[in-house]
Amino acid sequence: MPTPDEIKLAAELLRSGRVVAFPTETVYGLGANALDPGAVSRIYAVKRRPPTSPLIVHIASTEMIALLAADWPEAAERLTRMFWPGPLTLVVRKQPGVPEIVTAGLPTVALRMPAHPVARALIWAARIPLAAPSANRFTELSPTTADHVRRSLGNDVDYILDGGPCEVGIESTVLSLAGPQPVLLRPGGISRQALESLIGPIASVQAALGHEVPAGAHPSPGMHARHYSPLTFLLLVSNGKVPEQGRGIYLQHAHAATRPNVTTIQMPTAAADYAAALYEKLHQADEANADWIAVDLPPNEPEWEAVQDRLHRAASND
Ligand code: AMP
Ligand code: MG
Repeated sequence: MPTPDEIKLAAELLRSGRVVAFPTETVYGLGANALDPGAVSRIYAVKRRPPTSPLIVHIASTEMIALLAADWPEAAERLTRMFWPGPLTLVVRKQPGVPEIVTAGLPTVALRMPAHPVARALIWAARIPLAAPSANRFTELSPTTADHVRRSLGNDVDYILDGGPCEVGIESTVLSLAGPQPVLLRPGGISRQALESLIGPIASVQAALGHEVPAGAHPSPGMHARHYSPLTFLLLVSNGKVPEQGRGIYLQHAHAATRPNVTTIQMPTAAADYAAALYEKLHQADEANADWIAVDLPPNEPEWEAVQDRLHRAASND
């Protein structure tokens, strides 16, 4: 864990417009002062991320909400009382003071209060909201350790706070409350069912397409089909049917591979444990420089929604 002096140094760097990678309970973030367009532009440069992908703004106190959100619906109040701090991001109408570069020109802003003690201490010490996407190059696997960040971004990041491996291991759930009906933009650390039990029915992402989106923009960067991908060719298989040819790595869940001589990595059985292990195992598999990575698809059940989403994106070529 970082020392108080390291947190203080990181906070000073952030206040002077630099970018700092830090742990959250979901994945490592690449943070910059959300109110400084120049600092935020460095995030896009380091990640090589297109400017059409808006960023999540991370806060550490509910006082910061008024600075960023033009409107805070009753549903937001109810959800945040239950799930903040935690892996839930809410999209609401933005205050004019939120720079356009943070929201990719959208009239909305995405807010999250992370639970990780290092993230919280950093935002407190910096006393500014932090715009922070995952600390990896665009479309690549998300980092769940400080080492993943170093390997992906190297010297392009000004400072890295090492808080050990991330507990949730996949990105936050993103829910829009900016329209007439709540819309799930990205499944994640908190399940759709858990949200619906508090605020009622939530529409699917298709309902959001074409809604309050400038031409050519993605309503949400998680909507690029290819995302969270290893460099090695990745395919999803059922019943252990791995490719006949080549040297491969098999991420087994419930089915053994149908042919011998396949390097197998056993994945955890439960959905939350699987999610926590997923990126680390994909990073490991990627480093083996195999011809392919085959993933034994977990069941198509509600508790697996976020894992299914990441696996399908990792396997996408679009
Ligand atoms: P990441 O790049 O992993 O930090 O993901 C950022 C996520 O933030 C995306 O999946 C989007 O769903 C979401 N996002 C951020 N800002 C907005 C916004 N203004 N409107 C809709 N989604 C947003
Ligand atoms: Mg990302």
